[in-house]
Amino acid sequence: MRIAVPAETDPAEARVAATPETVKKFIGLGASVTVESGAGLKSSFLDADYSAAGATIAQGPAATLADADIILRVRRPAGSELAGAKKGALLLAILDPYGHVDALQQLADAGVDAFAMELTPRITRAQVMDVLSSQANLAGYRAVIDAAAEYGRAVPMMMTAAGTVPAAKAFIMGVGVAGLQAIATARRIGAIVTATDVRPATKEQVESLGAKFIAVEDEEFKQAETAGGYAKEMSAAYQEKQKALTASHIAKQDIVITTALIPGRPAPKLITEDMIAAMRPGSVIVDLAAERGGNTALTRPGEKFVTGNGVTILGYLNIAGRLAATASSLYARNLLAFADAFIDKTNKTLAVNWDDEIVKATLLTKDGALVHPNFQKPA
Ligand code: NAD
Repeated sequence: MRIAVPAETDPAEARVAATPETVKKFIGLGASVTVESGAGLKSSFLDADYSAAGATIAQGPAATLADADIILRVRRPAGSELAGAKKGALLLAILDPYGHVDALQQLADAGVDAFAMELTPRITRAQVMDVLSSQANLAGYRAVIDAAAEYGRAVPMMMTAAGTVPAAKAFIMGVGVAGLQAIATARRIGAIVTATDVRPATKEQVESLGAKFIAVEDEEFKQAETAGGYAKEMSAAYQEKQKALTASHIAKQDIVITTALIPGRPAPKLITEDMIAAMRPGSVIVDLAAERGGNTALTRPGEKFVTGNGVTILGYLNIAGRLAATASSLYARNLLAFADAFIDKTNKTLAVNWDDEIVKATLLTKDGALVHPNFQKPA
């Protein structure tokens, strides 16, 4: 059984889908692993490290993919990047399926059975495979570090001989995995932290981290969580009330980290132009929802932008990738855990249980066709 680790082709992607640690474990499970030369460089893993772990180093994508049973990637490859892949090879990657059915069709046409890692159900057994959590956790941490680096003032309260410096106020909007880590990180570096979310369950989580919870807690709020634990899209009336509350609060904040997302929908616009205009010069917003359109009216995806009133808005994409070595280590472990279930340890062969609930939730293409009910070409 062969596992291939091609290099990522997007120049903005610094992560890699396997590390020397996971290569060693795959080999321990009876696989042979081929890594494309240079694949780990931007994550600080050298070809020599992979070789020492037992991998074969191949030059170029075709030699890497040849005869592979499992292909590990961070991002969705174009169909052309899979030239030479074996029919029925399993592709494990973050496939970004929403709104990209044509790109998924290319994967089907390339003959690979493609699994979207981000659709892994949030059940206990799958926690170790949960790429959304592993990457969002790092993004939440990095957002606070980026904000602190941009902020031209000290974050913690400092009592010095020259006088006292007040602590910065940080407001975290959206308390999922990224938001919780942002709260914890902002607290660790000494900020006074408040947070908001539309899911009632988050109130206790915010308070347990020592931050203050701020939200419109009406009847709609009490019903705002889906059975899957995600937020529902809120009504226009709720969003107006939420904006009024946010407007008065945000004007007093120094650092705002926004993380609000609703699966499969554009990011909700939580911060208006007027709210930004009311913020202090020197304050910083980090918009972790930039990839899905952003939570602020002025976010420029992929860019740092300073408004006329001196507010810095960071709309960086792929924030976890700004911690490429750590993000790769955790992502690679997620893939190892996911692929482990596909390997028959006795015969050292592929043995996928196509009826497994995790397989069904994540498998998008099989035998040349789109097979996931949520990602079909319109008739
Ligand atoms: P996410 O990235 O989908 O969204 C981030 C946050 O934005 C969520 O907390 C959401 O409620 C919030 N949000 C949406 N609209 C908002 C609005 N208008 N205003 C304010 N906040 C808004 O979330 P996530 O980090 O993927 O977490 C989603 C859920 O999954 C959570 O309940 C989390 O605890 C749960 N989870 C479970 C597991 C598991 O294995 N059991 C693992 C990870 C996460």
